[in-house]
Amino acid sequence: MTRSLAFALLPLSALLGAACSGPPLQPGVEAAPMQEDPGPTIPQGGLCAPALLDAELSTPEIPEPPPPTPCEVEVAPSQHTPVRPLGIGYTQGENPIPARTVYLTLDDGPSEWTHEFLDILADKGVKATFFVTAKQLKGAEGLDGTYVDVQGRTITYRDVLKRIVDDGHALGNHTVNHPDLARITRAQISSEIEQNELLVNRALVRAGAQPRLLPLFRPPYGSPWYTGVAGMVPPRASERVSSHGLNIMWNITSTDAADWAIGESYSRTATPVPTPDPPEYDEKIARLKNYVLSSTQFAAGEGMIVLMHDTHSTTRDALPDIIDGLSAAGYAFETIDHYVDWRWRRPAIDLTPGPSLYQACVDERNWGCASFGVPVGTDRAREVCGRMWVGFQAFGGESALGEPIAEPVQNPETGIVSQAFDRATLELHPENEAPCNVVAIQQ
Ligand SMILES: [Zn+2]
Repeated sequence: MTRSLAFALLPLSALLGAACSGPPLQPGVEAAPMQEDPGPTIPQGGLCAPALLDAELSTPEIPEPPPPTPCEVEVAPSQHTPVRPLGIGYTQGENPIPARTVYLTLDDGPSEWTHEFLDILADKGVKATFFVTAKQLKGAEGLDGTYVDVQGRTITYRDVLKRIVDDGHALGNHTVNHPDLARITRAQISSEIEQNELLVNRALVRAGAQPRLLPLFRPPYGSPWYTGVAGMVPPRASERVSSHGLNIMWNITSTDAADWAIGESYSRTATPVPTPDPPEYDEKIARLKNYVLSSTQFAAGEGMIVLMHDTHSTTRDALPDIIDGLSAAGYAFETIDHYVDWRWRRPAIDLTPGPSLYQACVDERNWGCASFGVPVGTDRAREVCGRMWVGFQAFGGESALGEPIAEPVQNPETGIVSQAFDRATLELHPENEAPCNVVAIQQ
């Protein structure tokens, strides 16, 4: 109480040193479709997070975290033991997948084929999860780049991205350039994940869609967890990755990325990718179907997270039969967002705690949330979770902002997530670069 009173005498601005670069934009300017750089979207009177947040996230040398402290929290027998790294579907994963439920995941897009994948999914009435890269296979312009489709129309990748969202599919983060995370530094890992969220959101805004946080993460190659790649457990990368997104692996691979069939390419305009001893095109399509529909998981009616890529035309051509085969066996198609609700009864954004809270000892029921005066999970208006927690800490936490007075809400028109505290409202702007991705508006 004394501490709160002492800080209450200071205006919020005295506690927040950082200023944004550039003036706030007028409403609507940020949505200009072809604007080269829309700049940060900052509401009137808003202050960006102190530079501390940015420094923490981009410091080249980040000290090794202390060894994990054993949890003293009593975990009820019915609760699962906390799984670290946070993740589902990986080979030795401990997270269950609901029976006869399939999560189709499509990585590495958007590509020149993605519209056709979306057509198939729409035709079948099926939702999937797309783990997108901002630049990989798209060239230097990334999501602002273009290609010419079969009808001769020039298509911008960001418009494909918008359609993924408009069609109701889930969107996940797959890094900017698709590096092997076991082979780059912690700072590079942070940059790859956070820059991808930023570039994807800038593209969405430029395409006229709402920004959105990307708390679902698929590591390229499944590395460093996938034992077939690096086999390093526990890798130095694991905590850093898990602090930026919920780690989503798979338990079935279609094997589409294992090779390129004769005549197959990631693009309709690029020359086919040479592969030693390539399979025939139809042979590969049959193989992809077989890997899913002849799997032991399928035979047993088990839940499946299927790894596929919307950068392979063979996958596009195998997809209708794969969907039909799964449907005929009574499988329901869901997105990973749906899985997270089923598994943890919280949105994924609440489960991506950020670097600070991830180090804390919390039991699985409390992942990513700090509670003010009530048990976690009983009143979201008294909790600060996930990314909001990171922003809350960056602005000085309870001593500067007070306690939460409302649950986080997403503005349906702007996509911005906000939460009100005693002395300020915090907004998460995924389309803005740090430190302006967290903005405080004084009450
Ligand atoms: Zn990938």
